[in-house]
Amino acid sequence: MDTITREQSSTLRAALRGRLIEPQDPDYDTTRAIWNGMIDRRPAMIARCAGVADVISAVRFARDSHLSLAVRGGGHNIGGSALCTDGIVADLSGMRGVRVDPQARRAWVEGGATLADVDHETQAFGLATPLGINSTTGVGGLTLGGGFGWLTRTLGMAVDNLRAADIVDATGQLRHVDARHEPDLFWAIRGGGGNFGVVTMFEFELHPVGPLVTAGLLVYPFAEAHQILTRYAELTGRLRNDVSVWAILRKAPPLPFLPPTVHGADMLALAVFSPLQPDAVSAEINELRQFGTVLGEHIGAVPYAAWQKTFDPLLTPGARNYWKSHNFTQLNAGAIETIVAYAARLPSPHSEIFLGLIGGRANALPPEATAYPHRNALFAMNVHTRWTEPSDDAECIAWAREFFKQTAPYAAGSVYINFLNEDESERIREAYGPNYARLAALKARYDPANLFCNNQNIKPSA
Ligand SMILES: Cc1cc2nc3c(=O)[nH]c(=O)nc-3n(C[C@H](O)[C@H](O)[C@H](O)COP(=O)(O)OP(=O)(O)OC[C@H]3O[C@@H](n4cnc5c(N)ncnc54)[C@H](O)[C@@H]3O)c2cc1C
Repeated sequence: MDTITREQSSTLRAALRGRLIEPQDPDYDTTRAIWNGMIDRRPAMIARCAGVADVISAVRFARDSHLSLAVRGGGHNIGGSALCTDGIVADLSGMRGVRVDPQARRAWVEGGATLADVDHETQAFGLATPLGINSTTGVGGLTLGGGFGWLTRTLGMAVDNLRAADIVDATGQLRHVDARHEPDLFWAIRGGGGNFGVVTMFEFELHPVGPLVTAGLLVYPFAEAHQILTRYAELTGRLRNDVSVWAILRKAPPLPFLPPTVHGADMLALAVFSPLQPDAVSAEINELRQFGTVLGEHIGAVPYAAWQKTFDPLLTPGARNYWKSHNFTQLNAGAIETIVAYAARLPSPHSEIFLGLIGGRANALPPEATAYPHRNALFAMNVHTRWTEPSDDAECIAWAREFFKQTAPYAAGSVYINFLNEDESERIREAYGPNYARLAALKARYDPANLFCNNQNIKPSA
């Protein structure tokens, strides 16, 4: 890799409408900070792109200077792929525009927008597209990996609602892709991550949602976790597509609807969501109430955009995080037993085991329909190990790895690429599943020199 001369950086600076940020700049450290506080990488330059022209300049500069190139959307990737060491970061966090056509039910979303940006603009018209559950996540990384959230059971994955994209390829050329124009590349970006270029604009289909939806939490004592998860596993096998219920095992946050004696105690919470109104889902909610002793509940009609932010306070940026994830096609007795055993000894007050329910419309397509292949996954289980002190690293990471190992026999043998850690490169093939070979061939066509390598990388192979 070449080193960067003062002249080269002046050339790039002059080519940008946005800023070029280098280690000597006072805001260098804040600019390179990302969601996971464990990641501490020092790029040589950060190109804060103001638009497509800047993205083209950054890509061409990286290619011509033989520099490592990373692409930053919302900066949430747990493995820190938004950053590289010594190379250049094309930082899209200044490109957050969202334009909505309410009649056509379409949204055009710039590559650095967050979920909150999209929800804010689309909800002004009572419209939405399925994204994730934490409003500060970037639409870019989430969508390119597949993208699932509260609306997924009803409306499919984020990629299932992507209708077109503008993408700057490895030569710096801007391509418009959709089902008719470069359908191979359009297929590849619907699950192939950041391997094929920088998406400067996503075009999503929108659907009528809210503004009021039904959502909320039911909190149960941890002592009943085994019984509740057993009933939950049975329910999720037959749940209608317009209802979603996720399970969370953690210490209870100081939620106002919980008695103070419960705050800080181990608990199991079921998070319920439906785009329907409360009357239409009262049977399901009543059934959940019978699962065990409800310590507290807060459930009813809420604005969709507000529900999309409900988990934000538990997922603030800057903490140390280590994740381990498995997909499951079902939760059997062995899985439940292991989950409860490890939830009983969480290594830190902010760690949690999250069972994200997928299924529904997301599983109505065959695995080869999009590059995202996991059309049989009913759950993505994510272990959010989260703490603040570096001295706790070893204990927290060891707990997550051990739990991951003990649950592996009950899991589907697949994983969502967006939940992979930086030390899990050996799981990349598992993450792309049966679509890996086609993706590798397309990588050879669109990025033969692997310029876009700071991601869950697909090696070019004809
Ligand atoms: C707190 C939290 C909650 C989450 N919740 C969910 C959830 O509910 N559902 C879900 O599906 N996922 C969820 N995720 C995972 C999330 O999808 C990934 O972390 C994803 O990588 C985040 O995208 P980003 O743009 O914020 O990340 P970044 O770190 O900025 O980007 C990650 C990678 O994506 C690529 N990339 C990003 N933007 C672009 C672009 N415009 N063009 C080309 N490549 C790009 C690059 O390769 C980059 O390295 C969550 C993550 C966190 C930290």
